[in-house]
Amino acid sequence: MITIEQLNKNFNGVPVLRGIDLQVEKGRTAVVIGPSGSGKSTLLRCINLLEIPDGGRLAIDQTSLRFGAGKLGHGDILALRRQTGMVFQNHNLFPHLTALENTMEGQLIVLKRSREEARRNGIALLDKVGLHSLYDRYPYQLSGGQQQRVGIARAMAMNPKVILFDEPTSALDPELIGEVLFVIRKLADEGMTMVIVTHEMGFAKEVADEILFMDEGIIAHRGMPEEIFGDSAHERTRKFLIKFH
Ligand code: ADP
Ligand code: MG
Repeated sequence: MITIEQLNKNFNGVPVLRGIDLQVEKGRTAVVIGPSGSGKSTLLRCINLLEIPDGGRLAIDQTSLRFGAGKLGHGDILALRRQTGMVFQNHNLFPHLTALENTMEGQLIVLKRSREEARRNGIALLDKVGLHSLYDRYPYQLSGGQQQRVGIARAMAMNPKVILFDEPTSALDPELIGEVLFVIRKLADEGMTMVIVTHEMGFAKEVADEILFMDEGIIAHRGMPEEIFGDSAHERTRKFLIKFH
């Protein structure tokens, strides 16, 4: 579902991603871990084309783009971007729209769905993330965990082929983390293809089909959760993980 080959990204001449190769099969979950500044968010933002890579290739399902060799059309970028949904650390809900309206907005404007269809779909998704009865609340009337769940429903409403999560629980109070992880785990069980950046190592171990340890713009180590979290892990990975014990 996702193929990334030799992806590079520089900021002001400084390499931040240095030749990333990654494949995620349909229905699988890849979890990205690694120290702050290692390029995890930049990788997700490149997959979503919020940042345009400087080199390499990115394919999502049947849509593929090559970077660094000539100008890209805006249409190509939009087509690829629409294959992915993104959930950020700080729920970036529209503050002036209710939970339900937040899930409808993209459906109406981008997908040109009818109000009726967008509404039906939004309600089904809010129910799915456990927010029945909160449809008409504004973001400020919701807890952080509820806001994140609206964010997930909103991403799902666009029918993406892939969902990207950038530290979806790191801005939450500890008691609200579980409800968000529960929803993400449910999506994994239902066969959604996902890339998740997280510092929740217990969750990573449980939900990941593959763990990618990023360090200084490369995937320094990758493997099944038991390999990464087991005794055989690389020196650098072990040092990083020690902080979470
Ligand atoms: P992580 O998510 O792993 O903490 P990031 O992908 O956010 O890492 O950042 C990787 C590096 O790229 C950092 O050194 C960061 O300062 C730099 N960086 C990220 N975004 C930008 C940007 N828009 N402009 C300049 N530098 C950036
Ligand atoms: Mg980050």
